[in-house]
Amino acid sequence: MTGPLDWVTDALDHLEAEGLRRRLRHRGERTGAIVDGRRSFASNDYLDLAGDPRVAEAAAEAAHRWGAGSGASRLITGGTVLHRELEQHIAAWKGTQDAVVFSSGYLANAGTIPALVGRSDAVFSDELNHASIVDGCRLSGAAVRVYPHNDVAALEQALAEVPAHRRLVVTDGVFSMDGDAADVGALAAVARRHGAMLMVDDAHGAGVIGPDGRGTAAAQGAEADVDVAVGTLSKAFGAAGGYVAGRHDLCEWLRNRARGFVFDTAPPPPAVGAALAGLRISLAEPWRRHQATAAARDLADRLGVAPPAACVVPLLVGSADRAVALAAQLAGSGIDVTAIRPPSVPPDTSRLRFTTTAAHTADDVDRVAGAVAAALGAIA
Ligand code: PMP
Repeated sequence: MTGPLDWVTDALDHLEAEGLRRRLRHRGERTGAIVDGRRSFASNDYLDLAGDPRVAEAAAEAAHRWGAGSGASRLITGGTVLHRELEQHIAAWKGTQDAVVFSSGYLANAGTIPALVGRSDAVFSDELNHASIVDGCRLSGAAVRVYPHNDVAALEQALAEVPAHRRLVVTDGVFSMDGDAADVGALAAVARRHGAMLMVDDAHGAGVIGPDGRGTAAAQGAEADVDVAVGTLSKAFGAAGGYVAGRHDLCEWLRNRARGFVFDTAPPPPAVGAALAGLRISLAEPWRRHQATAAARDLADRLGVAPPAACVVPLLVGSADRAVALAAQLAGSGIDVTAIRPPSVPPDTSRLRFTTTAAHTADDVDRVAGAVAAALGAIA
């Protein structure tokens, strides 16, 4: 079969040759500490709630009461009182005036940034920000200045150099592939000095660190400094969806102007019900975040890498091939960990990205640390 799509075959062959071709896996059971017979250190299910029967039950109840799908966008007929209840719970938990829920964290970022800045504006983005932030910056049409990772002085200089009508500083809270945190207070001070808004995407910190799991800024005592607090319901809370928490007028603006909200079918009721349950359980059972973060700290210590801000522990190994070989070796020892390669990370910084959850015990950490040492020896 030949046709105008033939270039795709060549492009896939090229990925294969570069060691960058990725393939889906299809697991045969729910996510958890053991998946397909292997100890899993690869999910973002930080509080071990995605497979929790109470969360599943809440999803089922919501499906029975409200339906499996929403049928339309929130602004048409898709919104239910359950959607609103979730927004109110998020706002109460985050201590903000309001919150707005999106169908995913990806859409929250990609929808919010273009609603805040446009063509006569500028956005300042950490070089390691998540792809959904990068895409939001591109979609906005604003001038984009990427600053070196966590380099507050460089950000300040960029803010001084780039005059614009409105300016937005945007950062991950906990960085998804590096596991370190932004210095929210320092970023906020610089943003304030230059009259810029500050947006923090805390997909990997929310639910996991800080008082009541309120995330990176709260852990640093800088919560009040964040203008636009983004998060996801698909990681710590075991469900699906994304949110922005902040001032009421901000949330109303997003309901009117964030295209990822306006033009997207409202999140399905089962996901909303599950997120509500996940959030409630996370608050009632703080041991979950304590256990998950303790496992991450222990693992980092055993691997000899920097202490993580939350539950992401990367072990940098260099080339994509080496990362893949190590992951395969670990799989043979019953450990499931993801080899992260370009384009998710810069060239030559391929890594094994370990994540810990509330399901991991000290024994698990012991076992994985031993297996990593053996795998490194085996492929040396
Ligand atoms: N932000 C960050 C930092 C993330 O890691 C992710 C998920 N990989 C997202 C946003 C997107 O969230 P979701 O999976 O809910 O779309």
